[in-house]
Amino acid sequence: MKRIMIGVAWPYANGPIHIGQVGGCYLPPDIFRRYHEMKGNEVLMVSGSDQHGTPVTVTAEKEGLTPEETAEKYHKINLKALRDLDVEFSLFTYTMNETHKRVTQDIFKTLYEKDYIYLDTMETFYCPDCERFLPDRYVVGTCPECGQEDIDGDQCDECGVLLDPPDLLDPKCKLCEGSPELRESEHFFLRLSAFQENLEEYLEDKDHWKNHVLNFTKSWLDRGLEDRPISRDMKWGISIPIEGYEEKKIYVWFDAVIGYLSTSIKWSEEGEGDWTKFWKNPDAEHYYFLAKDNIPFHTIIWPAMLMGYDEDLNLPYDVPGNQYMRLGGEQFSTSRGLIVSLPDILEDFDSDPIRYYITTIMPEVKDTNFRWEEFEDKINSELVGNLGNFIHRVLSFSYSNFGNVPKAGDLDDRDKEILETIRSKVETVGANIESRKFKKGLEKLLQLSREGNRYLNERAPWEEIKEDKRRAGTTLNISLKIVKALCIAGAPYLPHSMDELWRYLKHEGSVHDQSWNEAFEPLKQGLELEEPEPLYDTINLSDMEQESQLSESLKKLDLRIGKIRKVEEHPNADRLYVCRVDIGDEERTLVAGLRPYYEKDEMQGKKVVVLANLEPATLRGIKSEGMMLAVDCDEDDTVSLLSPSADLGENIKGSERGAPQISFDDFKKVNLKTSVWRDSKVITEEDTHLEPIKNDGFEGIGIALVGDKKKKCLILEDSEGVVRTDKDVTPGCEVK
Ligand SMILES: [Zn+2]
Ligand SMILES: [Zn+2]
Repeated sequence: MKRIMIGVAWPYANGPIHIGQVGGCYLPPDIFRRYHEMKGNEVLMVSGSDQHGTPVTVTAEKEGLTPEETAEKYHKINLKALRDLDVEFSLFTYTMNETHKRVTQDIFKTLYEKDYIYLDTMETFYCPDCERFLPDRYVVGTCPECGQEDIDGDQCDECGVLLDPPDLLDPKCKLCEGSPELRESEHFFLRLSAFQENLEEYLEDKDHWKNHVLNFTKSWLDRGLEDRPISRDMKWGISIPIEGYEEKKIYVWFDAVIGYLSTSIKWSEEGEGDWTKFWKNPDAEHYYFLAKDNIPFHTIIWPAMLMGYDEDLNLPYDVPGNQYMRLGGEQFSTSRGLIVSLPDILEDFDSDPIRYYITTIMPEVKDTNFRWEEFEDKINSELVGNLGNFIHRVLSFSYSNFGNVPKAGDLDDRDKEILETIRSKVETVGANIESRKFKKGLEKLLQLSREGNRYLNERAPWEEIKEDKRRAGTTLNISLKIVKALCIAGAPYLPHSMDELWRYLKHEGSVHDQSWNEAFEPLKQGLELEEPEPLYDTINLSDMEQESQLSESLKKLDLRIGKIRKVEEHPNADRLYVCRVDIGDEERTLVAGLRPYYEKDEMQGKKVVVLANLEPATLRGIKSEGMMLAVDCDEDDTVSLLSPSADLGENIKGSERGAPQISFDDFKKVNLKTSVWRDSKVITEEDTHLEPIKNDGFEGIGIALVGDKKKKCLILEDSEGVVRTDKDVTPGCEVK
């Protein structure tokens, strides 16, 4: 049994995690952790929200919140998003906690007492207009190394260089866009230069590091280490624990890396285990997962801090830093608004398809691109078409022809060969995960299911069963062994669906509690199988786009269920009624042109759909505060009110209570039509067939919201079901 500590880069609590970061540093450690746990190793995986520093204060000022509020808000959002993605930690905490403050100040003080931290003066930016110092992200400018514009004052995300204030070209104050000046100020410095030799020695046996991580680190050492300022003139953060300097704060990066240690200690304090078994044990291996902009902090600064603080503490064994995952060629960036956030994508897709695609484009050795078309294509052709399809074919054929796991008869050479393939592929998947080659490991997994599909097609149990049921049983038994192996070896990558598959295989407990070698163990025999559902759905992005457009237009309407309390003839118009309609919390006067089509008594007490946010209009001297929706049917020469089933005062699903007022012209742009459903098609007009975006097998007449592309539609529903028309009318009539 090995002990493994996994440190995961701390996300700033200044915005939701974006999917570039998921591929860069959050998904890899989770795959790694799950694998090692199945191998029987003890794993401690820690991270948390980085709540200090200027990233948080800048966002707080923008959002009109206090730094604490911003820090807490995004901590909650990101914690939930990581959980929803099935990324699990031993402890995911935040830097505002007391243990962290205590450990950080202790490390600072100890290093100060050992003279690894000293006081000196330096030039920092000061904005005369704002009358304040401008630390880190309060200054923007151009990178002196790579020329990237609009970078933050402390580091260039593009090339990774760390900057001291005077290095930045064309500096601008982020608050007022004025030109800041340089002023002398006292600051504390980490004496990095003192660790040059020790770090060179430390790197000597790091041949297992990725090339770009090792080279980047070596190039720093080759240039000679320079001492770094680690204090800031700002109110937010952990105070310098030196008398007379409490007003200054510890630089966010100095405190964030300490989070790995402080969280491990906190994990112990919470009674979960003994942190020293991981940190003061020469046999424990420490892995740090992060993206390339964080490399020097983990390969130089953090090891130096650990060496200076307590030489018994474990140093990083590997820092598998990733390159960047970009969005269609551009860098994801929260500050530039170029972002697909993890919470957003989780609203539209299940966690495993997201994990699948991101693993296939993990930026392990070079920058990669997230592309939506590729996402759709890979999910449909690989996850659904290969892996999901194989599993589903085997499970459903076994279920419908045998009802349980069939026994294997005599094996021929091909059967034996495929059993050997299972062993070698599963072992290769494991070896790749172990050496942090997650993308390759997943490719091997897919190769195994491709082999499975090939075997199944060659054997064709649907033919075998006609001649020799026993032989078909053998084929399925072997195929189910492949399925079981896929389930075990796929569990670190696709934790949710593989756990479901484990259940279909009738094994007990969770797949995540199994040992890796369970992949080679016999199947549970004799238990009844249940009817399997496919593990994954195909994705159709253009339908989803249509759906979101339609949802957006529905959101502009406040469609309320009302009840007609009183109907009177309009004194000045033959065709108009004046109605009092109760819409839950108020009564409205509505003028409606229904006199030729409805008797007063017929309308009395009827439930109707009211457009409550329509601009009031005066019709022949009487003010109408909204509109009852009805369909106008030329063909039937009638008008029919819409007829909802849910309670008075409720909103039609997807419409928004309190939506801003809209004009009649804007309402006319929303394309609502009556329609008939038959065989899950919607007929809005003769010969016009639409597919409803969601269909629960309803048949009959309803109202459909039709989009620009006119292939898909959204069905109008309330909490009781489909909204119908009061009278039977021809499909295709428009709602007026
Ligand atoms: Zn740069
Ligand atoms: Zn300013």
